[in-house]
Amino acid sequence: MISVEEALKKILSYVEVLEPERKPILDCLGQVLAEDVYSTIAIPPLDNSAMDGYALRAEDTRGAGESSPRYLAVVGEVAAGSMPTKEVRPGTAIRIMTGAPLPEGANAVVQFENTDEVNRKSSGGDLPQIGILCQAKKGLNVRGRGEDIARGNLILKKGKVLRPQEIGVLASLGRSTVLVIRRPIVAILATGDELIGVDQPLAPGKIHDSNNYTIAAEVSRYGGIPKILGIGRDSVQSLTEKIDEGLDADMLITSGGVSKGDYDIVKDVLAEHGEVGFWTVCMKPGKPLAFGVMKKVEGGRKGKVPHLGLPGNPVSSMITFEQFARPAILKMLGKKILAKPAIRAIIEDDVVDTDGRRLFARVSVTRRGGQYRASVTGPQGSGILTSMARANGLAVIPESSKGVKAGDMVDVQMLDWEEEQGEVKTLPIVSIVGKSQSGKTVLMEQLIAEFKKRGYKVAALKHSHGGMEIDRPGKDSWRFAQAGSDAVCVSSPDKLALIKNLNHDLNIEEIMSIVGSEFDLIIAEGFRKSKIPKIEVHRKELGDDLLCSPEELSAIVTDESLDTAIPQLPWGDTVAVADFIEKNFVLKARTVPSTPRGKKVK
Ligand code: AMP
Ligand code: MG
Repeated sequence: MISVEEALKKILSYVEVLEPERKPILDCLGQVLAEDVYSTIAIPPLDNSAMDGYALRAEDTRGAGESSPRYLAVVGEVAAGSMPTKEVRPGTAIRIMTGAPLPEGANAVVQFENTDEVNRKSSGGDLPQIGILCQAKKGLNVRGRGEDIARGNLILKKGKVLRPQEIGVLASLGRSTVLVIRRPIVAILATGDELIGVDQPLAPGKIHDSNNYTIAAEVSRYGGIPKILGIGRDSVQSLTEKIDEGLDADMLITSGGVSKGDYDIVKDVLAEHGEVGFWTVCMKPGKPLAFGVMKKVEGGRKGKVPHLGLPGNPVSSMITFEQFARPAILKMLGKKILAKPAIRAIIEDDVVDTDGRRLFARVSVTRRGGQYRASVTGPQGSGILTSMARANGLAVIPESSKGVKAGDMVDVQMLDWEEEQGEVKTLPIVSIVGKSQSGKTVLMEQLIAEFKKRGYKVAALKHSHGGMEIDRPGKDSWRFAQAGSDAVCVSSPDKLALIKNLNHDLNIEEIMSIVGSEFDLIIAEGFRKSKIPKIEVHRKELGDDLLCSPEELSAIVTDESLDTAIPQLPWGDTVAVADFIEKNFVLKARTVPSTPRGKKVK
């Protein structure tokens, strides 16, 4: 018996990165760039306006304000796509649209909102002057020539996997074609006398071939071009004929006929055609595996085609494909990362694995309570393909163990990620707002304690307008900050603190991404301007009006009854507020399938 790693190493030693080809950029999604791409132009090619507004000289706006407009003579207009015909001289401005080249003489653009453009419009647009209502700095709303890409720079490096954004960059550089590693052609053959095509009616003893479809779809998914050879019968002649048709491909994948059954003659046919090894791989499902190199037909590209003979059972063939064929295809495509994305998860069922092989258990992974949880997708027979259809991951139970118990941590190879399953995980967040003295900080404290009591992992956010200092003078971290470091991060076995200088006030999404996503709930204090759901704390003695407009609020915590359709919660009743938040934000964010827990799986 050989290990999964040994088998993979051997297979990869027989496949090579394929040669480059030149293709239209839109056909290259997911392929590996085979040339260094330099810019032959600057982007943007000219200084241009980032706003609709007035191009002017910043000097001419000195002292301008809402109540002290500076009037400039409007000498022309320039739209995106055309060149300015006039220049901006002292005391003048040119009306300009977003993307239009900046006229000679101008060094800033003031957007319409900061001018008295409305007056101009109401007078029919022929007012000779425009009132500027703010003081502009040089460069305001001007996108500089070459700001995105300077001419002559290396923009995309050989080896880069092309995503939509790289394809966009290529287009912006004016590149309609590019050199990429070509896609491998993978010939696929199902074998077995019992198999019939999908469009044929079932007859006694027959089953529809599914492996050709699963495997072809896998080949496409990972970037190869499938070439289905059809179904080979369990006869030397049929198999030989079919396999011959696949010898102009870059790889041949067969399914079935590699176990010890009497009619499994794929082995013999393969042995005829070239070198072949029959391996017993230390894995379950998928023990029998054949790997060899077929001799190529005349004129073949390299004279040899690697052949992977997968077991016939639909689950076994798919799992062995994932472990061995997928990395081989990725290597041919020139990719560097061949392993499946993996996570650590808590397994929710006992899984028994007594025969010393590495077990790949089909699981459905969800994220709850800040952790990944993997639950086994029902009966695990290697013929039960629906167990794969219900799974989004493979829990890997090592050969050295006798299995795992519910609650243990396991490694899970992800077959796909949540967003591909349409289960986008959202991190519940709610903000407590209110006038000063309304009691919002006390409510925050009580809510945090209440949610901790309910078993949730909570993060609290606070915005401090007046700046802040959380580090103590004399501490090493304080000394590093004093020495001028822009960020100081201190970690200990159980805490992390990050003190970082900022050049702008972070928005709530940016803050959340720094805080992390392992929480069940984020409670923020303040952040009134953000779009997150808000609960306002209201007290009668502070006046009738509310701080937020009704459409911004999810609820009001109040000590008097208000005449509004917004849900009202009694001031001082933390449990009621926590119930409201739990029901409307925390539980709504979850999309957990209701499968029974604690199944025992063999
Ligand atoms: P084999 O490896 O040929 O002994 O096949 C093992 C099992 O997988 C048998 O029950 C086959 O009927 C089944 N099987 C083989 N090939 C396919 C296929 N292409 N589609 C569905 N089931 C298959
Ligand atoms: Mg068979």
